[in-house]
Amino acid sequence: MSDSWNKRTQAVHAGVRRSQYNEVSEAIFLTQGFVYENAEAAEARFIECGEDEFIYARYGNPTVSMFEQRIAALEGGEDAFATASGMAAVNGALTSMLKAGDHVVSAKALFGSCLYILENILARYGVEVTFVDGTDLTEWEAAIRPDTKAVFFESMSNPTLEVIDIEAVANLAHAVGATVIVDNVFSTPVFSRAIEQGADVVVYSATKHIDGQGRALGGVIIGTKEFIRGTVEPYLKHTGGALSPFNAWVMLKGIETMDLRVNAQAASAQKIAEVLEGHAELERTLYPGLATHAQNDLVQRQLGGKGGTVLSLDIKGGKEAAFAFLNALTIPVISNNLGDAKSIVTHPATTTHQRLSEDQRDELGITPGLIRFSVGLEDADDLLADVIQALDSLSA
Ligand SMILES: *Cc1c(COP(=O)(O)O)cnc(C)c1O
Repeated sequence: MSDSWNKRTQAVHAGVRRSQYNEVSEAIFLTQGFVYENAEAAEARFIECGEDEFIYARYGNPTVSMFEQRIAALEGGEDAFATASGMAAVNGALTSMLKAGDHVVSAKALFGSCLYILENILARYGVEVTFVDGTDLTEWEAAIRPDTKAVFFESMSNPTLEVIDIEAVANLAHAVGATVIVDNVFSTPVFSRAIEQGADVVVYSATKHIDGQGRALGGVIIGTKEFIRGTVEPYLKHTGGALSPFNAWVMLKGIETMDLRVNAQAASAQKIAEVLEGHAELERTLYPGLATHAQNDLVQRQLGGKGGTVLSLDIKGGKEAAFAFLNALTIPVISNNLGDAKSIVTHPATTTHQRLSEDQRDELGITPGLIRFSVGLEDADDLLADVIQALDSLSA
C-alpha cells in the first residue's frame, strides 16, 4: 500500500489482507474466534496481540480490519475502529475519552441521537456540555475554556445543511489542548479533508454513503494510532460495539464504488438545487453548493465547492403542503436514511426531529414545511421532472 495513492486508488486497494488462497475480492471471515496452535501461543497472544493476529471478533477480525484500514487510508488518518452503527461510533469517540467533571463544547444543530448523547447521557455521568451556534466563531471562542476537553460538531448539519469551519474551530480548540471530534457524514469521505483541516477524530455512520445502498448498519472512528488503540479500542472492545464481519465486508465493497456514486449524486443534487431555487412553491432551497448558500465561501475552501448529496426544500404552506408534496412524488421513497442509491425524502419535523420541542425546531430552522431530499443515483432529469410535477401539483 502506498501513502502517495489518490483517494480512488486507496478506495479499491487500501487495507487488503489476503488469505493463503490469494483471493481477488476481500474474504468474509465470518468467525467470532481464532484457533491457537498450542496453549503457549494462546498465552502469548493475550500478552501481546500483533497486527496480523486476532483473539475475538469483539476486539478485531480480519474483514473488519480491512475495512478499518481502507477508510483510515482514505481519510488520511493513522488508524480506525469500526463500530456496529454510526451512533456506536459517536458514543464510542466521546465516552471513551471523557470522564465526570470534563467540559465539552458542541454545536447545537445535531442529528437527534447525537443530541441525546450530548444533552442527556453525558450530563448523567457528570460531563458538562456547552452548546453553541456552530456557524458563529465568536460563540465557539466564548464557550471554549482552558479546561475544555473536547469539541464536537457535524461539519454539515442535518437537515438545514449549515457548514462549520473545521480549521477555525480546530484552531480555537487546539489553543487549549481540546480534542476536535467531527461527525462528517454529510461531507462524505469523498469530499472530506477534515484531518488535514484540523480534526483530531472523524466519525462516520457507514450506514450512509459508505454502504450507499441501504443494506447494513455500521460506523467508524478515525484518528491517531494512539487515540484509536489507546483510548477507543479498550473502551469499545469491552463494551461491545463491534461491527459484524459481514457488515464490514458490505462496507469494504461499498467504499470501492463510493467516489463514483457520491460524485454522481452530488452532481444531480447541484443540478436539482439550481433549477428549483426560486420556484414559486418554495420558501427556501438549502444546498451548500449553491452560490446563495450562507457559507458558500467556506464550502469552496473546505469541500472544494462540493455541496454533498442532500438538499433541503422549505415548501410554502407548512406541514399540509409538505405532506402533499411528499405524497405526490413518484420516484423518491419516503424514508429516513440518506446517501442511498435510491432518492429518499424525509419530513424532519414529524419524524427524525419529532422528539425536539417546537422551540428547539424553530431555533434550528426545522420548519413545518421543510423536506430533506437525499439525492440518489436515478437520472437527474427524471428526478427533476418528478419534483417539479409534485411542486406544481400544490397550486393546481
Ligand atoms: C445517521 C447519522 C448518525 C447515526 O448513524 P447510524 O448508523 O444510524 O447509527 C450519526 N450522525 C449523523 C450526522 C447521521 O446522519
